[in-house]
Amino acid sequence: MSESSKYLGDCIFCRILTGKEEGTFIYRNDKVSAFLDIHPLFEGHTLVIPNEHFVDISDVSEESLIEVMRVAKVISSLMLKNLNAEGINIMHSTGRPAGQTIHHFHVHILPRKSGDDSEFQKWWFTRSHKASRLELNDLASKLLKK
Ligand code: AMP
Ligand code: ZN
Repeated sequence: MSESSKYLGDCIFCRILTGKEEGTFIYRNDKVSAFLDIHPLFEGHTLVIPNEHFVDISDVSEESLIEVMRVAKVISSLMLKNLNAEGINIMHSTGRPAGQTIHHFHVHILPRKSGDDSEFQKWWFTRSHKASRLELNDLASKLLKK
């Protein structure tokens, strides 16, 4: 693949990959790269991205996705060993309603420590609605519709 079809000139992550913008890389191979997030939610917040420009989860190739997740595990282990992380969140957003702001597929790796953010904990653990079995079964049928 030629460089011009692999990278987008106006994509900040493509620009970081091609050295047109600064990035602090902690991992690079021929398929994926990982660098530190410029607005860290937690110390060590890392982004893992395919080297090829894909927009989101529906666009990314299976091959790249598998490699992104393999590297997510490598980075997570480094965080647990070298940053004294006690836990890890792996997050991804596809689309504006989900919070995606950079439209080059990426996965966030968040190193966590107990008590590091009560708002985050509250958001994740406060679930008021318990679905009925009927509701869940209906949804499963809807999801699996051909
Ligand atoms: P999302 O909102 O899921 O699309 O995440 C985009 C992430 O990219 C945010 O966490 C930003 O802080 C991060 N980001 C934006 N620009 C840069 C940059 N130049 N270097 C590193 N991270 C960046
Ligand atoms: Zn890109």
